[in-house]
Amino acid sequence: MTRTDIAIVGLGKIARDQHLPAIEAGGRFRLAATVSRSGGMDGVQNYESVEALISARPDIGVVSFCTPPQVRYGAARAALEAGRHVMLEKPPGASVAEVRDLAALAELQGLTLFATWHSRMAAGVDGAKAWLSDKAVRAVRIDWKEDVRVWHPGQAWIWQAGGLGVFDPGINALSILTEILPGAVHVSEADLHVPTNCETPIAADLRLAGPGGMAGEVALDWLAEGAPTWTIRVRTHAGELTLEKGGSVLTIDGAGAGEDAAELQGEYPRLYARMAELIDGGTSDVDLRPLELVADAFLLGRRTKAAPYHDPVETGER
Ligand code: NAP
Repeated sequence: MTRTDIAIVGLGKIARDQHLPAIEAGGRFRLAATVSRSGGMDGVQNYESVEALISARPDIGVVSFCTPPQVRYGAARAALEAGRHVMLEKPPGASVAEVRDLAALAELQGLTLFATWHSRMAAGVDGAKAWLSDKAVRAVRIDWKEDVRVWHPGQAWIWQAGGLGVFDPGINALSILTEILPGAVHVSEADLHVPTNCETPIAADLRLAGPGGMAGEVALDWLAEGAPTWTIRVRTHAGELTLEKGGSVLTIDGAGAGEDAAELQGEYPRLYARMAELIDGGTSDVDLRPLELVADAFLLGRRTKAAPYHDPVETGER
């Protein structure tokens, strides 16, 4: 197999934990360069900006963005304008309209834009979608609860406007939900709990609605200590489905229905395989429904003040 050269932009937690190992494990792509403000990694050419990468390396045809959503648009646009295929970490941008603009540009240029949703690649998601495809959905309940001090220490951008706060993990649940439901879903009410020293929520409660009287509840909590809860329950006219551990464990009416995989296992290799398929097929994959639900939660949301949040890196606890 001929491997395609790829560049990674932003060598933070997700790039190091998932993207680099997924590329190194083999498959279609070969890491040819990085774009990192903090110096890059041994043995791989690093550039200080996407613009520098583009002008120095016309041979690199694919750029994968692992930067925070607030700083993606300009650099991703520059990559597309320069004729490169682009892969975006979730959420694909800081606003819905900016990602639509990127999708339109990719189409105009005949390039691939892949707005990835890694949780959709979790082991139980395809089975859940197949089982729900002929069911009438009555109710949905999502609990997405984890400890931000464990999962996001030192990440100031998540607390700044556009960083999504608790919706940064919460959008993973919404990406699964929009993938598996056979019909539409929208936010009808939202309560957002925002620490007095932050710009984004630390907890949120949503109500969802959909066709046929479907109703849903979403509870997002970023101060839950101990083991995280990443669970989606869907009650239908013909039984109940549960996805646990971020979509990796599927249960239907209490019985296991497929592989039990660790969280995130296999998700990133599948994302890169999908990117290769999209490039080969000359097409893009940009589904904005999860981001629209979050944008609507911010539009509809009642804000309440929550206690100030102190990052453990800032306070010296980590
Ligand atoms: P992170 O650890 O803060 O890393 C982001 C990296 O982007 C930084 O290390 C930095 O790398 C670069 N960067 C460029 N401009 C920046 C700016 N203005 N502020 C901060 N960083 C900047 O974040 P992350 O957890 O990897 O998350 C990145 C994206 O991946 C987010 O969209 C997030 O939702 C998504 N994601 C994260 C996880 C997770 O578990 N953490 C899981 C799935 C998806 P350089 O120093 O190399 O330039």
